[in-house]
Amino acid sequence: MSVVFGPVPSRRLGRSLGINNIYPKVCSYSCIYCQAGLTSELSTELKNFYSPMMIYNEVRRRLDEIRKNDERIDYLSFVPDGEPLLDCSLENTINLLQEFGIKIAVFTNASLLWKKKVRSVLKSADYVSVKIDAVDNLTWKKINRPHNSLQIENILEGILAFNEEYEGKLVTETMLVGGVNDNEDDLIKTAHCIVKIKPETAYLTIPTRPAPLKGIHSPEAKKTESSFRIFKSVYPSTELLNYYEGDEFSACPDTEDNLLSILAVHPMRIDAAEKYISNSDSDSHLIQKLVNEGKIKICSYEENEFLIKISD
Ligand code: SF4
Repeated sequence: MSVVFGPVPSRRLGRSLGINNIYPKVCSYSCIYCQAGLTSELSTELKNFYSPMMIYNEVRRRLDEIRKNDERIDYLSFVPDGEPLLDCSLENTINLLQEFGIKIAVFTNASLLWKKKVRSVLKSADYVSVKIDAVDNLTWKKINRPHNSLQIENILEGILAFNEEYEGKLVTETMLVGGVNDNEDDLIKTAHCIVKIKPETAYLTIPTRPAPLKGIHSPEAKKTESSFRIFKSVYPSTELLNYYEGDEFSACPDTEDNLLSILAVHPMRIDAAEKYISNSDSDSHLIQKLVNEGKIKICSYEENEFLIKISD
């Protein structure tokens, strides 16, 4: 399975080629809503995963295919099924990928930004999204289930320090989970913390794909709207991302591998997967074949059916 997937439609970045630079589900958090499944290795230890040259070669190969089809790519995005900053080769990989002249985005849970050397890894990225689901200690532990060595105060200080040093575009992302962090007290505390960070945009999101634990759901529509109003009243540059990102997945010669690589990072709606397979002129029975082989399964979530990758 490739460490490069897509391009996939992104609500914030247009068309993004995803890079999964971490081994499956190695993360410093085990978020209750994680669409990539439960964390299998909860860790804060920086280590080597894939070699920068291997990632570079895979990106180059995929970009050649995309360019042959006259398609556009807006970003190369590090958006793995774990925490991208656990990769101690990330800086080298980013530096190599800059050769392609495409903007680079990193989506991080920010839990390691209190370390100066981790912050410096991101200096060459054009876009950094940091996760701030909650700043109240109990709520943070409940929603993000962090490694026990982590402290929310240090993480918030790390984000502030990063913002002082960083010259690219910094945004925050707050996932609203019904009954967990969508109460007024948590929302106001989180929004006031974001005021200090002053991101270009504070995004509020809701779970739109199956979660690894039962009972995880988005707030009711009215609650989402009122949460958005509360957040926006404190931090006007807030945007609500509560809509489907679309199904414009590009055709790919290796349809099966690319589908599995996308599913490793997030579940995909069946209608989007069928459209992708049809656009790729691939076997229309591919979904059934992967289900029969035990590589994927189908599951329902909030009125839609999704394909989920089964862990190796
Ligand atoms: S949502 Fe992100 S930070 Fe949370 S467990 Fe999943 S990969 Fe880790």
